[in-house]
Amino acid sequence: MHAIGKDTVRQLCAGQVVVDLATSVKELLENSLDAAATNVDIKLKDSGLTSIIVADNGQGIDEANFATVCRKHWTSKISSFEDLEGVATFGFRGEALSSLCAVANVTITTATRESAPMGVELEFDNSGELLAQKPTARERGTTIKLTGLFAKWPVRQQDLRKNVRREYLRLVTLIEQYAVISDGVRLSLTNQTRGGNTVSLRTMPQSDRFSRLLTIFGTQMRPHIVNFEHCPTAEDEDISINGHISKPIPEAGRSASDRQFFFVNGRPCDFPKAKKLVNEMYRDHCPTRFPLYSIEVIINPRSIDVNLTPDKRTILIRHESLLLSSLRKALALVFEPSESVFNVSRVQ
Ligand code: ADP
Ligand code: MG
Repeated sequence: MHAIGKDTVRQLCAGQVVVDLATSVKELLENSLDAAATNVDIKLKDSGLTSIIVADNGQGIDEANFATVCRKHWTSKISSFEDLEGVATFGFRGEALSSLCAVANVTITTATRESAPMGVELEFDNSGELLAQKPTARERGTTIKLTGLFAKWPVRQQDLRKNVRREYLRLVTLIEQYAVISDGVRLSLTNQTRGGNTVSLRTMPQSDRFSRLLTIFGTQMRPHIVNFEHCPTAEDEDISINGHISKPIPEAGRSASDRQFFFVNGRPCDFPKAKKLVNEMYRDHCPTRFPLYSIEVIINPRSIDVNLTPDKRTILIRHESLLLSSLRKALALVFEPSESVFNVSRVQ
């Protein structure tokens, strides 16, 4: 028996952070939002197979960090385990850039307020070490370019090639969630293919939450979406819920449950129990369709653990049953015909 070499360990672990096209782009977008960008443009060529570029107007990367920015577990966001409790940024594990280096070729162009309009282009090798740097013109912000995604991971690249449309749609759904939650950010996602340019998403920074949701759900949904909420009280641990959901009528529903967004403290995440609850309640009134919804939960950060999986999509909630019963109560007011703002009776 022997210990696995450091390089092999890095390669193995990298595969857990960036598992597919969607998680690769998500990590870059999260970094832009963490850098307080108000403008983020995501541009894919051939659905990411040729290149992925994420350009932001955030704070940029300081010269002092050029050499370490893509090293594993190097982060500017936390210094100790205790810091996790109050972490307000999407990232904190210092794994994304190093993982991306392991699965793609990474180039970073960046400028800070101090250096702009002078910037620098940084090139990294597959172990995250700085290979080369050269000066370039750049407004404040950062552009990260990935090429050859999964070239060294033939099974994954083959899967991406084979299912490129499905993978691209998964990416769009994921980015949509960040578009909903990112107040004051102009976000765009375009894909350049041989067939032309597709704009899959474009939000305006000045729009309110509901307008941004309609950009994603479709403006024709405006009359079909209702707002519901649960106000925090001391008995239920100050959990607050604010949501939008489509009415339980066939024309407002969908045949798939792909537009169902759940956020905890501003973090898009998967919470299967809440998803099940909402869909079951909806089905009681409209058995043939799924609702579109966006539910935001605000909860004491000390009551949640987001550090369960490298992608941080899974969240452990201490008062999970309280949260679910509060959600049930808030939705009941919307769904029950007697009290409903929908004012609909059971629709088959
Ligand atoms: P984490 O986000 O967990 O810190 P990453 O590997 O995603 O780890 O990023 C490493 C570091 O690189 C970040 O902590 C941040 O300092 C810097 N960084 C990455 N992307 C950007 C960006 N778009 N703008 C500014 N800094 C960035
Ligand atoms: Mg990050």
